[in-house]
Amino acid sequence: MTDTAATATAQQAAGGGEDQLRSTNPATGALVARYPVHGPGEVGEAVRTARAAAASWGGLSFAERERALLRWAARLANTTERFSELIHDENGKPHEDAFAEVILALEHIRWAAKNAHRVLRPRKVSPGILMSNFAATVEQRPFGVVGAIGPWNYPVYTPMGSLAYALAAGNTVVFKPSEYTPGIGAYLIDAFTEANPELPAGVLSLVTGYGETGAALCRSGVDKLAFTGSAATGSKIMAACAERLTPVVLECGGKDPMVVAEDADIEAAAEAAAFAGFSNAGQTCIGIERVYVQRAVRDPFLAALRKHAEALRPGGDVGASYGPMTMPTGTETVQRHIDAALAAGGKAVVGGSDSVRKPYVNPVVILDADESSAAVREETFGPTLTVRTVDSVDEAVELANATEYGLAASVFSARRGEQIARRLNAGATAVNSVMAFAATSGLPFGGHGQSGFGRIHGDEGLREFSRPKSVAAKRFSVPGGELFTFKRNRLVVALLRRIVRLRHGRAG
Ligand code: NAD
Repeated sequence: MTDTAATATAQQAAGGGEDQLRSTNPATGALVARYPVHGPGEVGEAVRTARAAAASWGGLSFAERERALLRWAARLANTTERFSELIHDENGKPHEDAFAEVILALEHIRWAAKNAHRVLRPRKVSPGILMSNFAATVEQRPFGVVGAIGPWNYPVYTPMGSLAYALAAGNTVVFKPSEYTPGIGAYLIDAFTEANPELPAGVLSLVTGYGETGAALCRSGVDKLAFTGSAATGSKIMAACAERLTPVVLECGGKDPMVVAEDADIEAAAEAAAFAGFSNAGQTCIGIERVYVQRAVRDPFLAALRKHAEALRPGGDVGASYGPMTMPTGTETVQRHIDAALAAGGKAVVGGSDSVRKPYVNPVVILDADESSAAVREETFGPTLTVRTVDSVDEAVELANATEYGLAASVFSARRGEQIARRLNAGATAVNSVMAFAATSGLPFGGHGQSGFGRIHGDEGLREFSRPKSVAAKRFSVPGGELFTFKRNRLVVALLRRIVRLRHGRAG
């Protein structure tokens, strides 16, 4: 698909918006494409079309929806070079990273498509002793129309946790991608439409624009809103959705810690910290930003981390380890955090204040900055790591948990990895690895506190985009012995009193 085709889709969806959103290459500033800025009118129109399509899409069988989703995945899988090129151009990440992101997204489409029936189909539940003349079933029904708002840092993988799972659950979806990556969003939607020409318009559709367009989507009457982005915006989304009691799932930021215990494989821990800290220019919600390492292994860990960090080179070319900061303002936050950490007693072990060379930032490692520093407390979203020396795993866990975020974490320990993982205040934790849970489609993904709430991926992710519908169907009558009637039989009520005492009258 060409950028022009993507633009055409966006403009078609616009119905003629006046303002233009310019999508540019963050490394060069070159124009990638123009997209409309949709206002409440156009967003409302997209939601009305999606609602009309919801009846037929929601009425398809799980198998029919699975086929449509797999056709979408096939379309994307067969154009990965072109798609990776667009992701590189609009987001800035290297082609291979773009490709890796597409692979993960494809796995999620496949998993959601193939598991929706198992997770969401009607199931019988026991009617219980009082209602034993009834058959009880619970079914997970789609909400109807889901609005999805996405970020730019993983513009394919991240929204896919909402798009594929909401569609597989039988909802139609209106997607607003980040203003920094509208072309990637348009590509995803066009691929779905081209792979499924027989489906009505509006099963998966696009609106483009800035925050105001997202706010309009929140107020448009969608039946659920799935947001991925910063905590600050998440709070605004929740406030806007509160006006209509629209339910939300919020996948927000993190300040993810890594704990390196003294029995860890130090080389593996250092390599993983470098990858999770610096890849994608550190612009990864589940990237590592803070490391807590036991004193006994601190020096060899730092030496190995320095070796890996100094081998990395940001750039826009094929051999670059990672790309530019995607948002122009990203470098300012990184600069502020580096300077704050150094001012707070931190020692630059790799790089330093002059590592910020807009639009690139070289890897930075700062040792033992004060824990109150912004570099330790706030999401940096750049290729920086703070490393703190600790005297025990207990201290590491306490400091790792001393954050308002609760998204993800990593532990390196040969013998106690899973035990330490359980103590970390995070929605997901990788043991002797980093980010592994995000590539495991069956594992739910999400956080708490400032990291948001609700889950995408896995069984929980499918249920997130459905609501339970309970049915109690009478199979036969019990004359005089039913609760919900004026015709209760006195003898039966007396019998019930005895049963209640026998059943509930003793604790235990
Ligand atoms: P952001 O919050 O600035 O923007 C996200 C989206 O929200 C964009 O599409 C934006 O246009 C829209 N938006 C902005 N204001 C809005 C408003 N008032 N109402 C409705 N929509 C509005 O975030 P970003 O800079 O695009 O992404 C980076 C953030 O996302 C980081 O904090 C990162 O940690 C987080 N993130 C989280 C996850 C996760 O799964 N938990 C994944 C990726 C990124």
